[in-house]
Amino acid sequence: MSDCLFCKFVSGELKTNILFENDDLIIFRDIAPKAKNHFLAVPKKHFKYLAEMTEEDAALLGRIFKTISSLKDLLGLKNGYRLVINQGDDAGQTVPHLHIHVLSGQKMGWDPA
Ligand code: 5GP
Ligand code: ZN
Repeated sequence: MSDCLFCKFVSGELKTNILFENDDLIIFRDIAPKAKNHFLAVPKKHFKYLAEMTEEDAALLGRIFKTISSLKDLLGLKNGYRLVINQGDDAGQTVPHLHIHVLSGQKMGWDPA
């Protein structure tokens, strides 16, 4: 998608500090961290909602979850971590390209506010 921030990170049109990349995704640090470690795992394919997923996209997301969980040292996952996917307005989704927040490196509360 030509006007999408995360597509521009994927294509390299805009620079971000990519920590990990494979055929499926890129991972970089969130610009406004909500935890000691806050990464964004972004599928290279553009789609906004889980509800739009094809079977192929579902397999892609499965691989992405597997990849995230394998990056224990890079993402600081050893003592536990949280994955968040915001969907739509109530959740406060601000970037219309599906992405997984990876939060780690500290004890986390459970306050959706
Ligand atoms: P959402 O609110 O859509 O679930 O998450 C979007 C995330 O992207 C936010 O946590 C926000 O801080 C992050 N973000 C927005 N613009 C940029 C940027 O230019 N660079 C990086 N690294 N993160 C960004
Ligand atoms: Zn996009």
